[in-house]
Amino acid sequence: MARYELLVKNGTLVLPYVGEVRGDLATRDGRIAALADDLDPAEADEVLDATGKLVFPAAVDAHYHLGIYRPLAVDAAEETRSSLVGGVGTVLSYFRTGQHYLNRTGPYAEILPEVRAAVAGHAWTDYGFHLAPMDTAQVGEIPALVGAAGISSFKYYMFYKGFNLSADSRDAKAFTMSDEYDLGHLYQIMEAVAANQPGDRRVSLSLHCEQAELMRLFIDRVRANGDPQTLKAYSDARPPLTERVAIGEATTLAKATGCPVNLLHLSSAEALDAAATAKAALGLDMRLEVTLHHLCLDHETLDQRGGLGAKVNPPIRAVADTEALWEGVRSGAIDWVASDHACCLEENKGNALWPALPGFGGTGLLYPVLLSEGMHKRGLSPRRIAELAAANPAAAYGLAGRKGSLMLGADADLTVVDPELEQAVTTELLQSGQDHCPFEGRVVRGWPIATVLRGRVAYREGKVVGAPRGEFLAR
Ligand SMILES: [Zn+2]
Repeated sequence: MARYELLVKNGTLVLPYVGEVRGDLATRDGRIAALADDLDPAEADEVLDATGKLVFPAAVDAHYHLGIYRPLAVDAAEETRSSLVGGVGTVLSYFRTGQHYLNRTGPYAEILPEVRAAVAGHAWTDYGFHLAPMDTAQVGEIPALVGAAGISSFKYYMFYKGFNLSADSRDAKAFTMSDEYDLGHLYQIMEAVAANQPGDRRVSLSLHCEQAELMRLFIDRVRANGDPQTLKAYSDARPPLTERVAIGEATTLAKATGCPVNLLHLSSAEALDAAATAKAALGLDMRLEVTLHHLCLDHETLDQRGGLGAKVNPPIRAVADTEALWEGVRSGAIDWVASDHACCLEENKGNALWPALPGFGGTGLLYPVLLSEGMHKRGLSPRRIAELAAANPAAAYGLAGRKGSLMLGADADLTVVDPELEQAVTTELLQSGQDHCPFEGRVVRGWPIATVLRGRVAYREGKVVGAPRGEFLAR
């Protein structure tokens, strides 16, 4: 009997916080069991030739929306398949009660098992959930969720206060199905998260930072001023100032409560500046996230092409903002890059700006875009890319040592990347259920040719292999 299940032979291993080393890697029982300069192929059931390739820890796509617009099981099957294309082995998906998702409210003690049951058996990657306590009763569930339920991260949406824009409605209560959803509610969540730190992992609150009252004003101004149906108009309606003010509110409360926080999808130079300034001044445990689309898409380019497929919250900004975010990635101010993947079909976008649903997919581009735009174009090291895509989000979300690492004993989740493979992005290439792609046509250099989940090849040469084996991760 072979000593190893899988041997990854002759590759360059990309070790987060260490660097790149030539080495062989072998797995047993789904974990990394050997790292050496030369392992014997006869010792392994299966050999993956990685000559001339980079071997990264599989990405931990830390911002995801399974089941927001389609049934959970359908998204789990079709969207985590796309994740494998992008070299992702774990997705951490946001879930909340209220409109979209299951379109109901109630205790997470009831709803989380339903969500898990709907996803089980369908996902190609491992998965966990961040939960948003939408009403006061759900805030009271935080100790139990951190304990037995394996949920170590939560979410608050700064902009659901007062009204909701997505459905072109100003009725936030109907949307959130909450009792009180405001800064008082946020303060209570932060107190509860700060008080429930088990010590063996970080428990944190993620924040979507846009300020509601300012959005109301700027939306009204855009609509009164010709109401252009463009992505630039959408950005003008929710300008970077709304991010700055929300970041000020959120970080002030984080300081007051001692709550570890993550600022999600910073979209602009102003948001990044506000976050970095608050972090330095207040000494917070605060991690900063950017998305692929805020790094790589801009409304100046997309509006020339037309279409609203890239409508998302916060909005796609100008070129200068994308460059400022890349500078934050380069400097180390940004902790990780995620996709904010939300499968949203063309029919839910249409040609009318306000009714179009926000969000779109990008998980299949996580490593490819970081390699193409980050490594090849901007000189980021493979090591830094492994930290941004895998190790940093794993550490922030209670998965250090299990995910995002190529160390002995870690889950054998990895992706073999051909750094020189160049392809133009197409909707088909990404193997998502989404029928359009705002990145369509972009030429990307550096693609996974194989993705391995817990020691077994799950994706190879453009095809998923076998059956979905993803499991829920209690964190
Ligand atoms: Zn999101």
